[in-house]
Amino acid sequence: MSEKVNLYGLELPAMEEFFLSLGEKKYRAGQCAVRMYRKGALDFEEMTEFSAKLRALLAERATLWLPKVIDRQQSHDGTVKLLLELADGERVETVLIPDGERHTQCLSTQVGCAMGCRFCRTATAGLTRNLTPAEIVTQVIAAQLEGGFGKRVTNIVFMGMGEPLHNFEGTVKAFNILSSDYGLTIAKRRITVSTCGLAAKMRELPVEMLPSLALSLNATTDEVRMRIMPVTRAHPIAELIETLKALPLPSRARYTIEYVLLGGLNDTMEDAARLVRLLSGVPSKINLIPYNPHGDSDFAAPDPEQVERFKRYLLDKNFVAVTRKSKGDDILAACGQLKAENEERGSLAPLEEKD
Ligand code: SAH
Repeated sequence: MSEKVNLYGLELPAMEEFFLSLGEKKYRAGQCAVRMYRKGALDFEEMTEFSAKLRALLAERATLWLPKVIDRQQSHDGTVKLLLELADGERVETVLIPDGERHTQCLSTQVGCAMGCRFCRTATAGLTRNLTPAEIVTQVIAAQLEGGFGKRVTNIVFMGMGEPLHNFEGTVKAFNILSSDYGLTIAKRRITVSTCGLAAKMRELPVEMLPSLALSLNATTDEVRMRIMPVTRAHPIAELIETLKALPLPSRARYTIEYVLLGGLNDTMEDAARLVRLLSGVPSKINLIPYNPHGDSDFAAPDPEQVERFKRYLLDKNFVAVTRKSKGDDILAACGQLKAENEERGSLAPLEEKD
Protein backbone atom coordinates (compact mmCIF):
# COMPACT_ATOMS: atom_id res chain seq x y z
CA MET A 1 0.00 0.00 0.00
CA SER A 2 1.27 3.46 -0.79
CA GLU A 3 2.11 5.69 2.12
CA LYS A 4 -0.68 7.80 3.58
CA VAL A 5 -0.48 11.48 2.80
CA ASN A 6 -0.31 13.89 5.71
CA LEU A 7 -2.83 16.59 4.86
CA TYR A 8 -0.97 19.20 6.97
CA GLY A 9 1.72 19.25 4.31
CA LEU A 10 -0.56 20.08 1.39
CA GLU A 11 -1.24 23.51 -0.01
CA LEU A 12 -4.85 23.96 -1.10
CA PRO A 13 -4.34 23.10 -4.79
CA ALA A 14 -2.60 19.85 -3.80
CA MET A 15 -5.34 19.09 -1.32
CA GLU A 16 -7.90 19.67 -4.11
CA GLU A 17 -5.98 17.28 -6.35
CA PHE A 18 -6.06 14.76 -3.56
CA PHE A 19 -9.83 14.97 -3.15
CA LEU A 20 -10.28 14.75 -6.92
CA SER A 21 -8.15 11.59 -6.88
CA LEU A 22 -10.60 10.12 -4.39
CA GLY A 23 -13.42 10.82 -6.84
CA GLU A 24 -14.66 13.73 -4.74
CA LYS A 25 -15.47 17.31 -5.58
CA LYS A 26 -12.70 19.88 -5.28
CA TYR A 27 -14.51 22.03 -2.72
CA ARG A 28 -14.26 19.20 -0.19
CA ALA A 29 -10.61 20.18 0.21
CA GLY A 30 -11.60 23.60 1.47
CA GLN A 31 -14.04 22.08 3.93
CA CYS A 32 -11.37 19.73 5.14
CA ALA A 33 -8.89 22.60 5.63
CA VAL A 34 -11.42 24.59 7.65
CA ARG A 35 -11.91 21.57 9.91
CA MET A 36 -8.17 21.07 10.32
CA TYR A 37 -6.97 24.58 10.85
CA ARG A 38 -9.93 26.56 12.12
CA LYS A 39 -11.85 23.94 14.03
CA GLY A 40 -8.87 21.93 15.20
CA ALA A 41 -10.15 18.54 14.03
CA LEU A 42 -7.66 15.81 14.88
CA ASP A 43 -9.58 12.98 13.29
CA PHE A 44 -11.53 12.55 10.08
CA GLU A 45 -14.48 11.29 12.14
CA GLU A 46 -15.00 14.87 13.33
CA MET A 47 -15.63 15.97 9.75
CA THR A 48 -19.34 15.33 9.93
CA GLU A 49 -20.11 17.15 6.69
CA PHE A 50 -18.44 14.20 4.96
CA SER A 51 -20.25 10.91 4.43
CA ALA A 52 -19.21 7.93 6.56
CA LYS A 53 -17.82 6.45 3.38
CA LEU A 54 -15.62 9.44 2.63
CA ARG A 55 -14.42 9.62 6.22
CA ALA A 56 -13.40 5.97 6.03
CA LEU A 57 -11.66 6.54 2.70
CA LEU A 58 -9.78 9.51 4.14
CA ALA A 59 -8.65 7.44 7.12
CA GLU A 60 -7.38 4.84 4.69
CA ARG A 61 -5.47 7.19 2.39
CA ALA A 62 -4.54 10.17 4.55
CA THR A 63 -3.49 11.15 8.03
CA LEU A 64 -3.60 14.18 10.27
CA TRP A 65 -0.39 13.05 11.87
CA LEU A 66 1.28 15.26 14.48
CA PRO A 67 4.74 15.00 16.03
CA LYS A 68 4.87 13.74 19.58
CA VAL A 69 5.89 16.17 22.30
CA ILE A 70 8.44 14.18 24.28
CA ASP A 71 9.91 16.89 26.45
CA ARG A 72 8.91 20.33 27.59
CA GLN A 73 11.16 22.84 29.31
CA GLN A 74 9.98 26.16 30.61
CA SER A 75 12.32 29.02 31.32
CA HIS A 76 11.88 31.46 34.18
CA ASP A 77 11.23 34.11 31.53
CA GLY A 78 8.26 32.22 30.07
CA THR A 79 10.05 30.76 27.05
CA VAL A 80 8.99 27.18 26.39
CA LYS A 81 11.06 24.70 24.44
CA LEU A 82 9.39 21.58 23.12
CA LEU A 83 11.25 18.53 21.95
CA LEU A 84 9.29 16.84 19.18
CA GLU A 85 9.63 13.32 17.93
CA LEU A 86 8.92 12.62 14.27
CA ALA A 87 7.48 9.44 12.75
CA ASP A 88 10.95 7.99 12.06
CA GLY A 89 12.15 8.71 15.59
CA GLU A 90 14.19 11.81 14.65
CA ARG A 91 13.86 14.76 16.98
CA VAL A 92 13.64 18.52 16.51
CA GLU A 93 13.01 21.47 18.76
CA THR A 94 10.53 24.29 18.57
CA VAL A 95 10.57 27.27 20.92
CA LEU A 96 7.72 29.48 22.04
CA ILE A 97 8.67 32.98 23.04
CA PRO A 98 6.04 35.13 24.75
CA ASP A 99 6.70 38.86 24.69
CA GLY A 100 3.72 40.92 25.72
CA GLU A 101 1.10 40.73 23.01
CA ARG A 102 3.54 39.04 20.68
CA HIS A 103 3.71 35.28 20.69
CA THR A 104 6.58 34.12 18.55
CA GLN A 105 7.20 30.52 17.65
CA CYS A 106 10.58 29.47 16.34
CA LEU A 107 10.40 26.59 13.86
CA SER A 108 12.96 24.03 12.75
CA THR A 109 13.31 23.19 9.07
CA GLN A 110 15.85 20.35 9.18
CA VAL A 111 17.04 17.61 11.49
CA GLY A 112 20.51 19.02 12.13
CA CYS A 113 22.17 21.35 9.64
CA ALA A 114 24.85 21.13 6.95
CA MET A 115 26.07 24.73 7.07
CA GLY A 116 28.68 24.25 9.78
CA CYS A 117 28.59 27.75 11.33
CA ARG A 118 31.25 27.55 14.02
CA PHE A 119 29.31 29.34 16.75
CA CYS A 120 26.05 27.44 16.28
CA ARG A 121 25.01 24.54 18.39
CA THR A 122 22.93 22.80 15.73
CA ALA A 123 25.91 22.71 13.37
CA THR A 124 27.89 20.31 15.52
CA ALA A 125 25.61 17.40 14.63
CA GLY A 126 25.66 17.79 10.83
CA LEU A 127 22.59 17.30 8.65
CA THR A 128 20.39 14.24 8.98
CA ARG A 129 17.52 15.21 6.71
CA ASN A 130 15.09 17.90 5.63
CA LEU A 131 11.77 18.23 7.39
CA THR A 132 8.70 17.77 5.21
CA PRO A 133 6.28 20.69 4.89
CA ALA A 134 3.94 18.75 7.21
CA GLU A 135 6.68 18.38 9.80
CA ILE A 136 7.26 22.14 9.75
CA VAL A 137 3.58 23.15 9.87
CA THR A 138 2.66 20.63 12.56
CA GLN A 139 5.20 22.15 14.96
CA VAL A 140 2.65 24.96 15.29
CA ILE A 141 -0.32 22.61 15.70
CA ALA A 142 1.50 20.41 18.22
CA ALA A 143 2.53 23.44 20.29
CA GLN A 144 -1.03 24.75 20.22
CA LEU A 145 -2.37 21.44 21.51
CA GLU A 146 0.29 21.34 24.17
CA GLY A 147 -1.18 24.52 25.58
CA GLY A 148 1.28 26.63 23.67
CA PHE A 149 1.06 30.22 24.72
CA GLY A 150 -2.49 29.69 25.87
CA LYS A 151 -3.14 31.94 22.90
CA ARG A 152 -2.69 31.83 19.19
CA VAL A 153 0.79 32.26 17.86
CA THR A 154 1.15 35.73 16.29
CA ASN A 155 4.65 35.55 14.80
CA ILE A 156 6.72 32.81 13.23
CA VAL A 157 10.47 32.75 12.82
CA PHE A 158 12.22 30.07 10.78
CA MET A 159 15.23 30.22 13.10
CA GLY A 160 15.23 26.85 14.79
CA MET A 161 17.34 23.92 13.76
CA GLY A 162 18.43 23.87 10.13
CA GLU A 163 18.98 26.21 7.19
CA PRO A 164 15.54 27.07 5.73
CA LEU A 165 16.81 27.76 2.21
CA HIS A 166 18.70 24.46 2.16
CA ASN A 167 15.21 22.94 2.52
CA PHE A 168 13.78 25.33 -0.03
CA GLU A 169 10.64 23.47 -1.04
CA GLY A 170 9.73 22.53 2.52
CA THR A 171 10.18 26.11 3.67
CA VAL A 172 8.21 27.72 0.86
CA LYS A 173 5.32 25.28 1.19
CA ALA A 174 5.21 25.63 4.96
CA PHE A 175 5.32 29.44 4.59
CA ASN A 176 2.34 29.26 2.22
CA ILE A 177 0.31 26.99 4.47
CA LEU A 178 1.07 29.01 7.61
CA SER A 179 0.12 32.29 5.96
CA SER A 180 -2.81 31.18 3.81
CA ASP A 181 -6.47 31.93 4.36
CA TYR A 182 -7.34 28.24 4.32
CA GLY A 183 -4.46 27.44 6.69
CA LEU A 184 -3.20 29.14 9.80
CA THR A 185 -3.77 32.72 8.55
CA ILE A 186 -0.59 34.15 10.06
CA ALA A 187 0.18 37.46 8.34
CA LYS A 188 3.15 37.18 5.98
CA ARG A 189 4.72 40.26 7.51
CA ARG A 190 4.80 38.41 10.83
CA ILE A 191 6.82 35.54 9.43
CA THR A 192 10.62 35.72 9.24
CA VAL A 193 12.73 33.29 7.24
CA SER A 194 16.38 33.42 8.25
CA THR A 195 19.23 32.27 6.02
CA CYS A 196 22.99 32.01 6.46
CA GLY A 197 23.23 33.38 2.91
CA LEU A 198 22.45 30.82 0.22
CA ALA A 199 22.40 33.55 -2.42
CA ALA A 200 21.19 31.41 -5.32
CA LYS A 201 18.21 30.28 -3.26
CA MET A 202 17.52 33.82 -2.06
CA ARG A 203 17.09 34.74 -5.73
CA GLU A 204 14.55 31.96 -6.19
CA LEU A 205 12.27 33.08 -3.37
CA PRO A 206 8.75 34.12 -4.37
CA VAL A 207 8.47 37.92 -4.25
CA GLU A 208 5.84 37.79 -1.50
CA MET A 209 8.41 36.14 0.78
CA LEU A 210 11.06 38.84 0.36
CA PRO A 211 9.78 41.09 3.18
CA SER A 212 10.15 38.03 5.41
CA LEU A 213 13.77 37.45 4.47
CA ALA A 214 16.46 37.71 7.15
CA LEU A 215 20.15 37.38 6.37
CA SER A 216 22.56 36.23 9.07
CA LEU A 217 25.46 38.43 8.01
CA ASN A 218 27.47 38.08 11.22
CA ALA A 219 30.70 39.63 9.90
CA THR A 220 31.87 42.57 7.79
CA THR A 221 34.88 41.01 6.06
CA ASP A 222 35.04 37.77 4.10
CA GLU A 223 38.12 36.82 6.09
CA VAL A 224 36.26 36.81 9.42
CA ARG A 225 33.05 35.48 7.92
CA MET A 226 34.90 32.58 6.35
CA ARG A 227 36.24 31.65 9.77
CA ILE A 228 32.81 31.51 11.37
CA MET A 229 30.56 30.65 8.41
CA PRO A 230 32.04 28.28 5.81
CA VAL A 231 29.15 29.11 3.44
CA THR A 232 31.04 32.36 2.75
CA ARG A 233 33.39 30.46 0.45
CA ALA A 234 30.53 29.86 -1.98
CA HIS A 235 28.83 33.21 -1.45
CA PRO A 236 31.08 36.09 -0.37
CA ILE A 237 29.65 39.12 1.41
CA ALA A 238 29.63 41.27 -1.74
CA GLU A 239 27.45 38.72 -3.51
CA LEU A 240 25.01 38.61 -0.59
CA ILE A 241 24.67 42.38 -0.52
CA GLU A 242 24.35 42.63 -4.32
CA THR A 243 21.68 39.93 -4.18
CA LEU A 244 19.66 41.81 -1.58
CA LYS A 245 19.93 45.01 -3.60
CA ALA A 246 18.88 43.31 -6.83
CA LEU A 247 15.85 41.46 -5.49
CA PRO A 248 12.45 43.07 -6.09
CA LEU A 249 11.71 43.88 -2.45
CA PRO A 250 8.40 45.75 -2.31
CA SER A 251 8.81 49.42 -1.48
CA ARG A 252 8.50 50.19 2.24
CA ALA A 253 9.47 46.61 3.12
CA ARG A 254 12.81 45.90 4.74
CA TYR A 255 15.08 42.94 5.09
CA THR A 256 16.21 41.83 8.50
CA ILE A 257 19.98 41.71 8.88
CA GLU A 258 21.09 39.54 11.77
CA TYR A 259 24.47 40.12 13.28
CA VAL A 260 25.71 37.77 16.00
CA LEU A 261 28.25 39.69 18.09
CA LEU A 262 31.23 37.55 19.02
CA GLY A 263 33.42 39.22 21.63
CA GLY A 264 36.63 40.63 20.12
CA LEU A 265 36.03 39.00 16.76
CA ASN A 266 33.38 40.99 14.88
CA ASP A 267 32.21 43.57 17.42
CA THR A 268 34.73 46.39 16.96
CA MET A 269 33.84 49.92 15.92
CA GLU A 270 35.62 49.24 12.61
CA ASP A 271 33.08 46.46 12.10
CA ALA A 272 30.26 48.84 12.93
CA ALA A 273 31.60 51.33 10.35
CA ARG A 274 32.00 48.62 7.71
CA LEU A 275 28.50 47.33 8.45
CA VAL A 276 27.10 50.80 7.79
CA ARG A 277 28.96 50.98 4.48
CA LEU A 278 27.86 47.50 3.43
CA LEU A 279 24.22 48.16 4.20
CA SER A 280 23.96 51.60 2.66
CA GLY A 281 21.29 51.27 0.00
CA VAL A 282 19.92 48.05 1.48
CA PRO A 283 16.49 48.58 3.08
CA SER A 284 17.20 46.87 6.35
CA LYS A 285 16.55 46.51 10.01
CA ILE A 286 19.53 45.26 11.98
CA ASN A 287 19.17 42.69 14.75
CA LEU A 288 22.23 42.57 16.96
CA ILE A 289 22.46 39.23 18.72
CA PRO A 290 24.99 38.93 21.54
CA TYR A 291 26.57 35.51 21.15
CA ASN A 292 25.01 32.99 23.48
CA PRO A 293 27.84 30.74 24.66
CA HIS A 294 27.37 27.00 24.75
CA GLY A 295 29.60 24.05 25.46
CA ASP A 296 30.39 23.18 21.84
CA SER A 297 32.27 26.31 20.87
CA ASP A 298 34.85 28.59 22.40
CA PHE A 299 33.81 32.02 21.22
CA ALA A 300 33.29 34.75 23.77
CA ALA A 301 30.14 36.67 24.53
CA PRO A 302 30.58 40.37 23.73
CA ASP A 303 31.03 43.00 26.41
CA PRO A 304 27.55 44.49 27.04
CA GLU A 305 28.98 48.00 26.86
CA GLN A 306 30.48 47.27 23.47
CA VAL A 307 27.11 45.93 22.28
CA GLU A 308 25.59 49.24 23.34
CA ARG A 309 28.33 51.27 21.58
CA PHE A 310 27.92 49.18 18.43
CA LYS A 311 24.17 49.73 18.43
CA ARG A 312 24.49 53.42 19.22
CA TYR A 313 26.80 53.85 16.22
CA LEU A 314 24.23 52.24 13.91
CA LEU A 315 21.43 54.36 15.34
CA ASP A 316 23.53 57.48 14.88
CA LYS A 317 23.90 56.53 11.23
CA ASN A 318 20.11 56.35 11.06
CA PHE A 319 19.80 52.62 10.84
CA VAL A 320 17.09 50.69 12.62
CA ALA A 321 18.94 48.56 15.13
CA VAL A 322 17.62 46.25 17.81
CA THR A 323 19.53 44.25 20.37
CA ARG A 324 18.13 40.78 20.75
CA LYS A 325 18.75 38.95 23.91
CA SER A 326 18.69 35.18 23.93
CA LYS A 327 15.67 34.13 25.85
CA GLY A 328 15.40 30.98 27.84
CA ASP A 329 19.13 30.63 28.26
CA ASP A 330 18.55 28.67 31.45
CA ILE A 331 16.92 25.98 29.30
CA LEU A 332 19.49 26.28 26.51
CA ALA A 333 17.02 27.62 24.02
CA ALA A 334 20.11 29.08 22.41
CA CYS A 335 20.16 29.22 18.69
CA GLY A 336 17.96 31.77 17.06
CA GLN A 337 15.55 31.79 19.96
CA LEU A 338 15.73 35.42 20.61
CA LYS A 339 13.74 38.13 22.18
CA ALA A 340 13.70 41.82 21.56
CA GLU A 341 15.39 43.36 24.55
CA ASN A 342 14.71 46.81 23.40
CA GLU A 343 13.73 48.36 20.15
CA GLU A 344 15.11 51.65 19.04
CA ARG A 345 15.52 53.42 15.79
CA GLY A 346 17.70 56.09 14.34
CA SER A 347 15.89 59.34 13.79
CA LEU A 348 15.73 59.27 9.99
CA ALA A 349 15.08 55.59 9.47
CA PRO A 350 11.98 54.53 7.60
CA LEU A 351 9.04 53.83 9.83
CA GLU A 352 7.62 50.48 8.71
CA GLU A 353 8.26 48.15 11.61
CA LYS A 354 7.65 44.46 11.49
CA ASP A 355 4.99 43.81 14.07
N1 SAH B 1 20.22 28.77 9.40
C1 SAH B 1 19.49 29.99 9.58
C2 SAH B 1 18.51 30.00 10.74
C3 SAH B 1 18.91 29.37 12.04
S1 SAH B 1 19.93 30.26 13.17
C4 SAH B 1 20.45 31.16 9.67
O1 SAH B 1 21.65 30.95 9.68
O2 SAH B 1 20.00 32.30 9.68
C5 SAH B 1 19.06 31.71 13.60
C6 SAH B 1 19.99 32.83 14.06
O3 SAH B 1 20.65 32.49 15.29
C7 SAH B 1 21.09 33.13 13.05
O4 SAH B 1 21.18 34.53 12.86
C8 SAH B 1 22.35 32.63 13.75
O5 SAH B 1 23.47 33.36 13.31
C9 SAH B 1 22.02 32.83 15.21
N2 SAH B 1 22.76 32.00 16.16
C10 SAH B 1 23.13 30.72 16.03
N3 SAH B 1 23.80 30.29 17.12
C11 SAH B 1 23.86 31.34 17.98
C12 SAH B 1 24.42 31.53 19.28
N4 SAH B 1 25.04 30.56 19.91
N5 SAH B 1 24.28 32.75 19.85
C13 SAH B 1 23.63 33.74 19.21
N6 SAH B 1 23.06 33.61 18.00
C14 SAH B 1 23.19 32.43 17.38
